[in-house]
Amino acid sequence: ETRVRFAPSPTGHLHIGGARSALFNYLYAKKNNGKFILRFEDTDQNRNVASAEAKMLESMRWLGIDWDEGPEVGGPHGPYRSSERLDLYRPYVDKLLETGHAYRCYCAPEELEAEREALMAKGETPRYLGKCRSLNDAEEKALAEQGRKPVVRFRVPQNENIVIRDQVRGRVSFESDGIGDFVIIKSDGMPTYNMAVTIDDHLMEITDVIRGEEHLSNTPRQVLIYKALGFEIPTFAHVSLILGKDRQKMSKRDESVIQFVEQYRDLGFVPGAIVNFLALLGWSPEGEQEIFSMDELIQEFSLDRVAKNPAVFDAEKLNWMNNHYLKQADIEYVTNLAIPHLQKAGYIGEAIDDDTTEWLHGLIELYVERTDYAAQFPELVARFFEQAIAYDDEAKEVLAGEQVQVVLDSFIQQVEQIEQYEPGAIQAAFKTVQKETGVKGKQLFMPVRVAATGVLHGPDLNKSLWLLGKERVIGRLQTCKK
Ligand code: GLU
Repeated sequence: ETRVRFAPSPTGHLHIGGARSALFNYLYAKKNNGKFILRFEDTDQNRNVASAEAKMLESMRWLGIDWDEGPEVGGPHGPYRSSERLDLYRPYVDKLLETGHAYRCYCAPEELEAEREALMAKGETPRYLGKCRSLNDAEEKALAEQGRKPVVRFRVPQNENIVIRDQVRGRVSFESDGIGDFVIIKSDGMPTYNMAVTIDDHLMEITDVIRGEEHLSNTPRQVLIYKALGFEIPTFAHVSLILGKDRQKMSKRDESVIQFVEQYRDLGFVPGAIVNFLALLGWSPEGEQEIFSMDELIQEFSLDRVAKNPAVFDAEKLNWMNNHYLKQADIEYVTNLAIPHLQKAGYIGEAIDDDTTEWLHGLIELYVERTDYAAQFPELVARFFEQAIAYDDEAKEVLAGEQVQVVLDSFIQQVEQIEQYEPGAIQAAFKTVQKETGVKGKQLFMPVRVAATGVLHGPDLNKSLWLLGKERVIGRLQTCKK
């Protein structure tokens, strides 16, 4: 059975890079009728953020990336949080120590720092040179008696070529000599990432490790631990980095790109659009199709169509895609996305009655075409809520045109007579004005549009005037009369 996992460290919100890793794992599991496991890697206690776990789970659920085993749902291989698995790691550490694959190191941080600097000065890769590699019992005892707290290091074999089979990158090989004996247990007794991830992946029976390329350099270390413990080695797939439009690695601190799933949710993006977009960041389907539901992605997904070269995050494409999803969605759904934003702008109150809801449906329907994400609605529809509108120079120029006064007069008269104020009746009013004034086309519609809305361009005029309401249209037209 295929078993894959997403193993975030709970250091903050779910990043789009993490979400993409989670998605690829999920798609791969579903495609292969396997299991998708979620596990928190929280052994680096300095980096843990209290609310991060809950927020990450929420973002995953929002995206529709559900896990078969993990926090909240449980499963046969728990606990699903590294810090609760310390007892499970211990026997393996003991075994590595007993078999000589690991040893205790008593070097003080200052000594390690000095070694590091000396290597860097010589232009060599900083690594541990093995001072404590062959301490005897008496030496260890003496160091311990000085009050030194040891770490446990993995004894990296020399002159070994470590080869991994990577489903994205193919065969990747590493020379063991550049690695240096790395820490597997810190002086506080906590395992390092490389140790915890290896034991966890083994005990959780993970068959395929799909993760970001930034972990590729950790993989030979993990493979060494697998081998030393006689574990079966999973296959790996290292998914390329996500670059910004400037082709630089996206930094989590870069504010020019929105990088966290929760922010997209708050801006009124559709989860399906985010999923669709993330899937195409590094993976490409066989044909030209660009819009995929989750089920279609599951059908189509395969690791051999994941690219080796970096994916470029194109925010405009995401906007385009979200616009597509908004246009396809039920109007009730889109309206519900818009409501919190309209409330925040102060345009509508907390309680929304049925008439308002229906009116909002009309309004949202009229503007959805022009909307990339729901947070854009308030600005687009401001003139439907604000009492007075401002006329800029362009608008004033239209209103100063010939025959404008005649048209406005006639239109006001016609509208005043309408009993059932709706788009059809408004259209009929325009016809009558045309007959009475002899003005038609742009000369007829533009002055009314500008007087009523303040802008020269907008969606369907009859519907716009209907949604503005009879009183407001008449009022605004009147202010434009000389
Ligand atoms: N905890 C690691 C991270 O958040 C996951 C590494 C892995 O998938 O092996 O980057």
